[in-house]
Amino acid sequence: MCGIVGGVAQRDVVPILVDGLRHLEYRGYDSAGVAVLNESQALKRVRTAGKVRELDELLRKEQLHGMLGIAHTRWATHGKPDTRNAHPHICRGTVAVVHNGIIENHEALRAAQIKAGYEFTSETDTEVIAHQVYDHMMKGDDLLKSVQRATHELDGAYAIGIISKTEPNRLVAARRGSPLVVGVGRGENFIASQAAALITVTQRFIYLEDGDVADITRDAVTIYDASGKRVERPVHISSLTPDAVEKGPYRHYMLKEIFEQPQALADTLTNCLSSNRVLEESFGPKAKDIFDQAQSVLIVACGTSYHAGAVARYWLESIAGIPCVVEIASEFRYRKPVVRPNSLVITISQSGETADTLAALQEAKRLGFGHSLSICNVPESALVRASDLVFLTRAGPEIGVASTKAFTTQLAALMLLTICLGRRRGLSADKEALLVKLLASLPAQVDRVLKLNEQIKTLAERFADKHHALFLGRGTQHPVAMEGALKLKEISYIHAEAYPAGELKHGPLALVDADMPVIAVAPNNELLEKLKSNLQEVRARGGELYVFADETIDVTEGPTVHVVKLPHTDDVLTPIVFTVPLQLLAYHVAVLKGTD
Ligand code: GLU
Repeated sequence: MCGIVGGVAQRDVVPILVDGLRHLEYRGYDSAGVAVLNESQALKRVRTAGKVRELDELLRKEQLHGMLGIAHTRWATHGKPDTRNAHPHICRGTVAVVHNGIIENHEALRAAQIKAGYEFTSETDTEVIAHQVYDHMMKGDDLLKSVQRATHELDGAYAIGIISKTEPNRLVAARRGSPLVVGVGRGENFIASQAAALITVTQRFIYLEDGDVADITRDAVTIYDASGKRVERPVHISSLTPDAVEKGPYRHYMLKEIFEQPQALADTLTNCLSSNRVLEESFGPKAKDIFDQAQSVLIVACGTSYHAGAVARYWLESIAGIPCVVEIASEFRYRKPVVRPNSLVITISQSGETADTLAALQEAKRLGFGHSLSICNVPESALVRASDLVFLTRAGPEIGVASTKAFTTQLAALMLLTICLGRRRGLSADKEALLVKLLASLPAQVDRVLKLNEQIKTLAERFADKHHALFLGRGTQHPVAMEGALKLKEISYIHAEAYPAGELKHGPLALVDADMPVIAVAPNNELLEKLKSNLQEVRARGGELYVFADETIDVTEGPTVHVVKLPHTDDVLTPIVFTVPLQLLAYHVAVLKGTD
């Protein structure tokens, strides 16, 4: 993950570009750079293998200013993260490009360009874009036409921003597979990977579709689709405020977002619950008809959203009685599945721009699975636009790269869906009323768990020197364990795996020793006794146990058994409530380890 910002204005764009990069910093990156057309119409570039802060210092030192510019934070895919490979990449002092994504046919393009006399100064796949565009310009096309031609020659995924010294009032942008928005200003226009990066300069955004090329000057934004046809794309007024993208009193966005969960859950559930019923119109005006037709459910998603789907499978089958399959989007889209018509195809994605999930939805549609529902946090996103039904989680901007509040609000949405589908299969009004009451209590329940922050922080100290960890859970807690392991590895770089606790004896137990902490999530439910036996197995191997346990159950603490008691929660909500301490654990371990 990485970010692009660009702008064309009647003022110096450099501070805007740097501010935009700062807002994208959370996405993780290894180097950063800016290119501008300066006051003497020369293309100037500053790059660093360091942080945006260092880039900013360099820019000040070099006095880089200009009214047309592009900027980038890189997460290297081709070539190591050093200054040479940092973007922007420039061809012959004329064309500069920033790129997010991967150009799959870069080797073939590179070979042809070397033959044609182009010199390469980096190992990136990106540099071929600069040469390709320049080459078309040399044959007589303007920048726009050259980018349009070049994009037809690229395979893979890209969001790109390109400027040329020969056209000082023009920024050309294009996307396929990677996100890109145009920020529409007054007498100035911008691009960025995310609206949040531009919120201090505009609230008006155009979300480019896959294949679009945008021709951007100070006064106009003209968009062409993949076939080259001029198209109108709506301008959305964002409800983001500059405050929503600031850290406030929190040290990191991730911590802020973990603590925002009670509010995010309350906002997500607002307008969806009457005193004892779920209002199914919250899934859209066609929800009733589409839910009536659904014979089964297919959930496709990636990463954390996949884990939300994996929890929902338990709910949908046990509470709603509807068959459910959950698939990783990048597998589903390529695996030629047997079609189950009248399936409700559910895609889950925080951003609504996850390329594999979008492609999986398109594949499911092409194959004829059935209607689609997107559970998403971004109203204008590609997934939302491509789906028959939409449920918007109202988590607010999620800036921390490790997804937290998006996950818990997705789960809340999936429970609402479970109830709607369950009604059609014998879920009684009484049971529904009970579930609604439990959902309404969720924000308060999560708030109580957040009070354990200090205790979990202390516990985290025991992990900072570990290299591996094992997470265990049963039933709905297995996906929760997977989510806990993902959080830990993603931000603290500790290798972590999750297993359904019953699988322990079929192999992974062999790994357990004093250096392999085992984290178990233990709500008070009918699987508890089984889980306890698994924990005994760990103890017998000399493993150190960390148990997140419902306060009503009895787990004996000892020198190698550490217990964090969680407020009692009805079993059905435990996937949401028990995830929160695992998020805090991962966060504090990462802070202690000082990982990026
Ligand atoms: N593939 C390009 C590179 O390695 C872009 C990576 C990115 O998206 O930051 O430079």
